[in-house]
Amino acid sequence: MTFTREITGRLRSQRTPFYYYDMDVLRETLTIASRESAARGFTVHYAVKANFNPVIMKTIAEYGFGADCVSGNETEHALNCGFQAEETVFAGVGKSDHEIETGLRLGIKCFNCESVAELKVLDEIAGRMGKKASVALRINPNIEAHTIRNITTGTDENKFGIRITELDKVVTIMSQLNNIVYRGIHFHIGSQVTDLNVYRNLCTRVNQIYDWFTDRGLEPEVINVGGGLGINYNEPEILPPFKEYFDIFSIHLDRKIRSSISFELGRSLTAGCGSLISSVLFVKEGAAETFVILDAGMTELLRPALYHAFHLIENLTSELPVKKYTVAGPVCETTDTFGKFIALPETMRGDLIAIRSAGAYGEAMASRYNLRSLPGSVFSDKL
Ligand SMILES: *Cc1c(COP(=O)(O)O)cnc(C)c1O
Repeated sequence: MTFTREITGRLRSQRTPFYYYDMDVLRETLTIASRESAARGFTVHYAVKANFNPVIMKTIAEYGFGADCVSGNETEHALNCGFQAEETVFAGVGKSDHEIETGLRLGIKCFNCESVAELKVLDEIAGRMGKKASVALRINPNIEAHTIRNITTGTDENKFGIRITELDKVVTIMSQLNNIVYRGIHFHIGSQVTDLNVYRNLCTRVNQIYDWFTDRGLEPEVINVGGGLGINYNEPEILPPFKEYFDIFSIHLDRKIRSSISFELGRSLTAGCGSLISSVLFVKEGAAETFVILDAGMTELLRPALYHAFHLIENLTSELPVKKYTVAGPVCETTDTFGKFIALPETMRGDLIAIRSAGAYGEAMASRYNLRSLPGSVFSDKL
């Protein structure tokens, strides 16, 4: 994404703050992700929670990706944006009855189920609706052990997934539920993973768990290995390492596995194409720093306030010598700060600021706190 003078000029005429999406970057990212996954026989579902903007969603659907949803509304929205029900999965540790009904009514591919309690409710609701619910068991693989049977410790406090030690019980109960159709297994180890060795470890665990299921006559039709591929927030132009990522699974998943392998990518597909564009309201001297106060804050982009996330910040309109600033938003919270001691060309009221790599978990997390307006979205195709 390059902010040429011409693009910056056009962005200037829009009312800030807003999200700017470079659709060429999105298409390039989707092209590579779909090519590299297809080349290895893998399927990718887009994790809708990263960005549910309809224009972004429709573009992703056009590339043939499935959808990975974590609420009933996302499931409905995905289908409205062109995703196929047969390629839509619904995950989440707390699905309400209404959301389960929505998934069943829409005929989605699979519920990623996280507990025995959920399996029972799913069975009951499906029975009442005269439907069968396809299920993948979400397994929490986050356990240090070399073989499945020796595992004695688990992340008991982790709310996600079914612990490996519980699998025996879960499988027994599942076999007694008439409206549940077992389709396979699901994993999701976390987000913004940049050490790809983690995925090698995941493959080892998946191989073991595959054997466990197959030994019990439950060969999974689908193995969903989740998402989490990280991006380089320091260098927004670098595309995520899709080839290396998919290669790891292609090399380290056991050759004998015949299940279809699917992925759930969110951040890596949409983060790079989006920037939050904001205007400088005031520059003000503090005791130890100079503050740049923007007209965008944690209400537009929550990640820095929520978990100290780093986003590259650029001044698009100043070419003066560089100074250091603390860049903050207008919201009445001290954590409403995008970065401290950030090098920017000398900045003044009215300058246009781009906060980069904000296409994932940006617009989707916007809130109306302080009764602020939700940010708009501007697309390079229509600029
Ligand atoms: C959030 C989430 C993803 C996507 O994670 P990314 O880091 O955005 O790729 C995938 N699967 C599940 C179950 C999730 O909750």
